[in-house]
Amino acid sequence: MEPNIAENLHFVRSEIAEAERTSGRPIGSVELLAVSKTHPPEVIRQAVEAGQLLFGENRVQEAKAKIPDLPVRLRWHLIGHLQSNKIRQALPIFEMIHGVDSVELIDDIERVARDLGLFPRLLLQVNVAGESSKFGFTPERLFSQVEQISRAERVEVEGLMTIPPLASNPENSRKYFVQLRELRDRLEKESRFPLPHLSMGMSGDYRIAVEEGATLVRVGTAIFGERGAK
Ligand SMILES: *Cc1c(COP(=O)(O)O)cnc(C)c1O
Repeated sequence: MEPNIAENLHFVRSEIAEAERTSGRPIGSVELLAVSKTHPPEVIRQAVEAGQLLFGENRVQEAKAKIPDLPVRLRWHLIGHLQSNKIRQALPIFEMIHGVDSVELIDDIERVARDLGLFPRLLLQVNVAGESSKFGFTPERLFSQVEQISRAERVEVEGLMTIPPLASNPENSRKYFVQLRELRDRLEKESRFPLPHLSMGMSGDYRIAVEEGATLVRVGTAIFGERGAK
């Protein structure tokens, strides 16, 4: 059965609003990033028609191919790992890059941004659970490299992002979301820059992420259905 994208979006938005309300956060403090990776423009258009304007893609190449077929008013975030050789293509497309995981990558982005006259907005990916399979700064490295992270002049580091270990029970994610929030609070104190954003929560656990302070939730399957299910 085709997923009803408008209905799914309505449901996810109401769940976010409910979680904002029950956790005492102002309504509208969380932005929904609709993760459209693998889905073609005609599917994405259904979400646009239901009022969704912010989308997340994990591959620069794929996004670059789809974006020209969609309304220019849409906003795009890169949520996947960014390779250095893709920075030049990525910066003009994406208003925010979520998966920045090393000082070397920040320096490379800084160099390209200067070339292109851009001021890219970044989130640092943190591997809170210490999984060897995941990209991201370890919490220790985040603090030992805070000087190098904050020396970039053009890039705006605006917060942290994490992908917790896959779990069948969404409550398992809560401790990682709390950890990310606490890391952000500490890092904000130790660095000279404000870190307003926490990108955390996916289809299975976005409600819990909202309760724990997410400002951006990245939701794919709950909106578009299973990827590759056609
Ligand atoms: C694919 C992806 C998502 C969306 O996952 P769903 O479980 O489909 O909601 C979120 N974040 C990242 C980094 C992803 O790669």
